[in-house]
Amino acid sequence: MIPYGRQNISEADIQAVVDALKSDFITQGPAIERFETAVAQYCQAKYAVAVNSATSALHIACLAAGLGPGDWLWTSPVTFVASANCGLYCGANVDFVDIDPTTYNLSVSALKAKLESARKAGKLPKVVIPVHLAGQSCEMEAIYRLSQEYGFTVIEDASHAIGGDYQGRKIGGCQFSDMTVFSFHPVKIVTTGEGGMVMTQDPALYRKLCLLRSHGITRDSAQMEQEPDGPWYYEQIDLGFNYRITDLQAALGASQMTRIDAFIRHRRELAAQYHQKLAQLPLTLPHQHPDTESAWHLYVIRLQLEKLSLSHRDVFEQLRAAGIGVNLHYMPVHTQPYYCKLGFQQDDFPAAMQYYREAISLPIYYDLSDAQQDQIVVALKSILNP
Ligand SMILES: *Cc1c(COP(=O)(O)O)cnc(C)c1O
Repeated sequence: MIPYGRQNISEADIQAVVDALKSDFITQGPAIERFETAVAQYCQAKYAVAVNSATSALHIACLAAGLGPGDWLWTSPVTFVASANCGLYCGANVDFVDIDPTTYNLSVSALKAKLESARKAGKLPKVVIPVHLAGQSCEMEAIYRLSQEYGFTVIEDASHAIGGDYQGRKIGGCQFSDMTVFSFHPVKIVTTGEGGMVMTQDPALYRKLCLLRSHGITRDSAQMEQEPDGPWYYEQIDLGFNYRITDLQAALGASQMTRIDAFIRHRRELAAQYHQKLAQLPLTLPHQHPDTESAWHLYVIRLQLEKLSLSHRDVFEQLRAAGIGVNLHYMPVHTQPYYCKLGFQQDDFPAAMQYYREAISLPIYYDLSDAQQDQIVVALKSILNP
């Protein structure tokens, strides 16, 4: 089976992890800062806080934004559940903003309309999490303008999007947001096995994120509430977690970052080839907003079902039977049983549901060869035009 995504591990990556294993520190050593600096420089962000997953990163980003009971967090329904769960972890309420039917990202016009009615109802969100689906940036300038008008914090969920560009700059520089979160899960663009990172330009958010990552403990006397009574002294000044990443993982991440441009270049080549080779089929291919250059974590096609005698499920199953490990990103979060119990109805977000009925993610990853891609194209052609 050709998977929809997989990691690329080089000999240099392996050596970097072995070196970390043989060093004095296998956690909280120098590799973490090296990894954070590499990502911060790549994205032109001032601060980076590496943690053990993007889920942890989203949680502490929400806490740093002050999200708590009684507050609202809004995100896209077409995302992984973690983009919404982070609000529930903080005791806040979660709601969704329907997607744009062309980019599949959170719709700016739907956001605007929802903000207007939320203002009248006195239920404005404290945090909005735009998700850069498949690696294509949301319309961040417009979302940022709305954040200024309505007073919410913007946390970009860029789990798919490290290496992507928006208005000619790398995603992660937080030009139009307060914080940006990356994931380093193995199917994502850069991996540490498990891992995540929060990027920010704001020193106060940075200090708060560092505290939350490690139990709320500080050894910085400038942050302490009392006089140290000895060299052993540290203070817990907040309620944090153990969300730390290890040096082994960070060593892998830093080594991977030296190849990120090659990763992105090949994903863009594969996407361009799909565009060209699938153009004649009854499919809607991924539309690219002119302000964006995707990192191509996913290549999502939509079936033009009115032109087909097969169902969405038939096409999906026949591709799997042909050895193509297609997937569906995502079942809309509001349709999950846990969210249904919170009161959401299937048809609350019609554009998300329409997307769900038609979308299929084709394999795209650094090691996917031209021959494998041709095999996928041939299989798709024979299924759609028998
Ligand atoms: C993968 C992913 C996450 C969670 O990432 P982990 O590192 O596995 O915790 C969050 N949001 C989106 C959009 C993702 O794709």
